[in-house]
Amino acid sequence: MKAHDGMYIDGAWRPAADRDAIEVVNPADEQVIGQVPAGTAEDVDAAVRAARAALPGWAATPPSERAARIAALRDVLAARKEEIAETVTAELGSPLELSQKVHVGLPITVAGSYAELAATYAFEEKAGNSTVLHEPVGVVGAITPWNYPLHQVVAKVAPALAAGCTVVLKPAEDTPLTAQLFAEAVHETGLPAGVFNLVTGLGPVAGQALAEHPGVDLVSFTGSTAVGRQIAATAGAAVKKVALELGGKSANVILPGADLAKAVKAGVANVMSNSGQTCSAWTRMLVHRSQYDEAVELAAAAAAKYGDRIGPLVNAKQQQRVRGYIQKGVAEGARLVAGGPESPRERGYFVSPTVFADVTPEMTIAQEEIFGPVLSILRYEDEDDALRIANGTVYGLAGAVWAGEEGEAVAFARRMETGQVDINGGRFNPLAPFGGYKQSGVGRELGVHGLTEYLQTKSLQF
Ligand code: NAD
Repeated sequence: MKAHDGMYIDGAWRPAADRDAIEVVNPADEQVIGQVPAGTAEDVDAAVRAARAALPGWAATPPSERAARIAALRDVLAARKEEIAETVTAELGSPLELSQKVHVGLPITVAGSYAELAATYAFEEKAGNSTVLHEPVGVVGAITPWNYPLHQVVAKVAPALAAGCTVVLKPAEDTPLTAQLFAEAVHETGLPAGVFNLVTGLGPVAGQALAEHPGVDLVSFTGSTAVGRQIAATAGAAVKKVALELGGKSANVILPGADLAKAVKAGVANVMSNSGQTCSAWTRMLVHRSQYDEAVELAAAAAAKYGDRIGPLVNAKQQQRVRGYIQKGVAEGARLVAGGPESPRERGYFVSPTVFADVTPEMTIAQEEIFGPVLSILRYEDEDDALRIANGTVYGLAGAVWAGEEGEAVAFARRMETGQVDINGGRFNPLAPFGGYKQSGVGRELGVHGLTEYLQTKSLQF
C-alpha cells in the first residue's frame, strides 16, 4: 500500500515538522499496511496559513468555475474508484463490495451533487430594499472519523469548496490512507494551491491544534459526542462557528400493521452493514408485544445468516469496547438470541452479529452507542409507549417507522425527536439534510442544507 510520508499543504506534499509516525493496520488480519506522519501544531499552522492565503482567490472564483473544479474532482474519484475501494477495505476492513458501492460510490454521488449546487445555488438574493450576499464562512477545519473514510471527507470538503471556503482536513488516525488518496485526487484536478490541505495525525494533537487555531473560522467535526462536546467548548470560547455530527442510538419502530418480516430483515441488515459502525444505524428495534416473539425469531435467524460475511471492527480497542457492551447486556439481564461476546476468529478484530431480546429502555445497551453489530429488540405496549421509548435517549440522529398505511408511519415520524426517518424502507437520499436533534449534533450535512453551513450572509441596503 502506497503511503505519503508528508503532509499535503499549499498544493504539494511537504515533509512533516516531526518524525513521529502513525501505523495503519488492516483490521482483518492485524498486519501493518503503511504509516503516515503524525502531524503537530506546527504542521497544522502551516496548513491553516496556506488555507488563509488561498481564501481570497477561491472565494472570488465564480461559482460556475468552482462547480467545474468539483465536477473534475468527482471524475478523478470515479476514475480511481477501484484503488480507493481497495484502500478502504485494507484500512477499515469492510468487504470489498461494500467499499465499492457505498464507501466510494456514495461520495462520488455527493461530490456530483455539490458540483451541481455550486452551479445553481443563488449566492445573491433580494429581500425588500436589500441584496443579501451568501459569502463563504472562511477557512474550515474539518475533522473526520474512520467509519466512512471517504464519505465523511467529501461530505465536508465538497460543500466547503462549493461555498468558496478553503479547507484543512485532519482525518481519523485509523484511515489516513484513503484521505491521502483524496488529496492526490484534489491535486490531479488542479485546484489552486492552498484551497485544500491535509494534515494527518492524532486527535488530541493535530485535531485539537486545528480546532484551537485562530486562523480557522469554522470547525466541522464528525465523531463521538465526547470529543464533539470538547470541540464545541473550544470553538465557543473563541466565538468560532461549529458544525457537529455526533453519535446516535436510532429506533426502528415497527407498528402492528407493518410487513413484519420485511421490517425485521431490513432492520437487521441496517445494523449489520459496515459491521455496525454507522452513526445512523437503527440499533433499537421496537416491536409491539403481540408480534414480539415472532420478530425476535426472525431477527435471530437473519443475524445468523450473516455469519462470516461481516467485516471486522476498525481496531482492537473498538472490538474490546463492543464485546464489553455485549457482556454488559448479558449482565443486565437481556437475552442473547444471536452472536455473543466471544471472538468468532483468531485473527482480526471481528465481532459476531449479535441480537438481544428482552431489552428494556433503561439498559445500557438501549441507551449508549455501541458502534458494532449489535441489535437490541424492545417491546412496547401501544404507540405512546413506542414513542416514549424511541425518544428516550440523549440522541436523535435517525430512525425508521414501518406501518400498514404510509400516513400512519408519517404521523408517528412527526412525533419523533430525530433528524432523519425512513418510512416503510425509504431509500437513503444524498440530497436530504443529515444531522441530529439533541446530542446527535449541531448543523446539517448533505444537499443544500449542507452547503449553507459553509455560508454567511451579508445584507446590502439600497
Ligand atoms: P472520535 O471522536 O474519537 O474521533 C473523530 C475524529 O476526531 C478523529 O479524526 C480524531 O482523531 C479526532 N479527535 C479525537 N480527539 C480529538 C480532540 N481532542 N480534538 C480534536 N480532534 C480530536 O470518534 P471515532 O471513534 O473516530 O468515531 C466514532 C464516533 O463517531 C461514534 O460515536 C459515531 O457515532 C460518531 N460518528 C458520527 C457521525 C455522524 O454523522 N453523526 C458519523 C460517523 C461517526
